Amino acid sequence: MDTSNNVRLQLQQQQARKSNQNIQVYVRVRPLNARKRCIRSAEVVDVLNPREILTRHTLDSKLTKKFTFDRSFGPESKQCDVYAVVVSPLIEEVLSGYNCTVFAYGQTGTGKTHTMVGNETAELKSSWEDDSDVGIIPRALSHLFDELRMMEVEFTMRISYLELYNEELCDLLSTDDSTKIRIFDDSTKKGSVIIQGLEEITVQSKDDGYKLLEKGKERRKTATTLMNAQSSRSHTVFSIVVHIRENGIDGEDMLKIGKLHLVDLAASENVSKAGNEKGIRVRETVKINQSLLTLGRVITALVDRAPNPVSMSMSRTANRS
Ligand code: ADP
Repeated sequence: MDTSNNVRLQLQQQQARKSNQNIQVYVRVRPLNARKRCIRSAEVVDVLNPREILTRHTLDSKLTKKFTFDRSFGPESKQCDVYAVVVSPLIEEVLSGYNCTVFAYGQTGTGKTHTMVGNETAELKSSWEDDSDVGIIPRALSHLFDELRMMEVEFTMRISYLELYNEELCDLLSTDDSTKIRIFDDSTKKGSVIIQGLEEITVQSKDDGYKLLEKGKERRKTATTLMNAQSSRSHTVFSIVVHIRENGIDGEDMLKIGKLHLVDLAASENVSKAGNEKGIRVRETVKINQSLLTLGRVITALVDRAPNPVSMSMSRTANRS
């Protein structure tokens, strides 16, 4: 994608936000993997243009369906293209004190973890603008630190990394396995939840952040083995909280708190596809589907501005805390 395209898209997004459209939905189509290429698997998704895709039925290619998104990314799209459009504009919002969330949603193997975290072997130290294989989380960390240094303000950044599997929470950054994490509604703030026991670790540099991401990834592997889970069947939430101290116009200190939640959702397969090991997979799938359905309802309610949640690729939201 060239720079003029990026600028145009960012302007479109700013306009969308001005019209109170706080939720954007994107689709990313990954390239066929080596095995599929080897068996000459047919491509069933065409990216028609920057906003539309066409899906074809595997058995009857005439059965097609068109879908429209805020932006579609084809198999040739790069990590830096996705970051520039989906996350980069949110950094300014987080630094202005907004809460922003990016969800990656889709079936196993569709590229959620690749998009959010990046290729296992990618060099995390590269800049957020580089054409490398690093994903959204390390790019966002790098971008936030660059911006904060340029703003020359007093700030603190804290990180937490949570995994949710079968209604059980696991702190991926905790060193103490015995700490029980509890989640409950915040009675003082409607619609907010409190996660008790979750460690929020202060980071001083990009490297500190990358180390925590690596630590969380390692712990996720161990935790999922212990729980007999597959990583694709748990949700993870990587949260970055930034506190910025600024001088207000009247000379008083002002504290801005912005949050960026980067969510890698559990895979969205149905029960029959997920298989059944002594009912475990069914129970797991029901829980996953229940949480994905609830998320879908909340997003639809926000889009419709309905008072109650009614009845959702990659989406992002922005709300002032
Ligand atoms: P998910 O998290 O949705 O289960 P993964 O992110 O683990 O899927 O992706 C499955 C495989 O496909 C991985 O080997 C990953 O590196 C590869 N992959 C996914 N998306 C892309 C992409 N856009 N370009 C190249 N390889 C990709």
